[in-house]
Amino acid sequence: MKPRALCGEKVLGFRKMKADIVTIFPDFFRGPLDHGITRRAREMGLAEIEVHDLRAFTHDRHRTVDDRPFGGGEGMVLKPEPIFECLEKLPLASREARIEDRIAGRATQSVILLSAQGERFTQSVAADLAKLERVVFICGRYEGVDERVSESLADRELSIGDYVLSGGEMAAAVIIEAITRLLPGAVGNEASTRQESFTAHGDSNDGGEFVGNASTCASNGLLDYPHYTRPADFRGMPVPEVLLNGNHEQIRRWRREQALKKTLLNRPDLFDRAQLDVEDAKILDRIKKGVRS
Ligand code: SAM
Repeated sequence: MKPRALCGEKVLGFRKMKADIVTIFPDFFRGPLDHGITRRAREMGLAEIEVHDLRAFTHDRHRTVDDRPFGGGEGMVLKPEPIFECLEKLPLASREARIEDRIAGRATQSVILLSAQGERFTQSVAADLAKLERVVFICGRYEGVDERVSESLADRELSIGDYVLSGGEMAAAVIIEAITRLLPGAVGNEASTRQESFTAHGDSNDGGEFVGNASTCASNGLLDYPHYTRPADFRGMPVPEVLLNGNHEQIRRWRREQALKKTLLNRPDLFDRAQLDVEDAKILDRIKKGVRS
């Protein structure tokens, strides 16, 4: 029988997520993961993050992690041996079992290769990863990583956007931050993570039920609505009147309209996947026709 993932530990009734980062620059992570919600989640024991120095898995005097590309060409490539050795020390299911489990919707682990050529990292991928017990991040450098890591070790390649970074470290930090804030118990007010931009129905860890108050609305895959705080008038720029009138239903409708407007202006592509109801469709129609509400 193929080995399966180990069971996750429970912390204060919450599930604990373990993240392993494989990098040639372990010190990079001293700053980014030591602030805000990520730090809090680590202190609460909801997330455990271990950084593995790839050079510790080399066997030569120079601790060599890279070599020239076969076939010629620019730059250097990260060698496969130290990466395979590092991951063989971790309690991971086989790559085939991890892929099989993901397809069957019962994944508990993932080994991710950070790569500009990867699948685009989105809020929905973050929500999927936040359900796992162990996520391993392999950070590339130079011209990239020997392709056999993608072919035989990683079960997923992720890109944080259509641009090229010098290494996978920044991408790993971005993904860990996005996942950590979705871990149950990590954010004081969990309703806030459910109404944020890009968050589709079902992306939360609670079965997808939105539990905000009467004046808020879930983004349902669109952009978030605008937020204002005191003072009500700042340098002649007043807060929209509707937010001050205490009428929750009017506020909710205004917020939904603003979210639809902003999405239409900045990210119309999101409408392809968004969950719009009849009310949304009517508001959107009015916005497109330039009719004021
Ligand atoms: N030759 C590669 C290409 O053109 O696709 C770029 C290699 S890049 C200079 C070095 C490393 O940075 C990659 O192996 C990857 O780990 C990381 N990286 C670069 N851009 C990234 C992105 N958009 N998302 C995630 N990781 C990225």
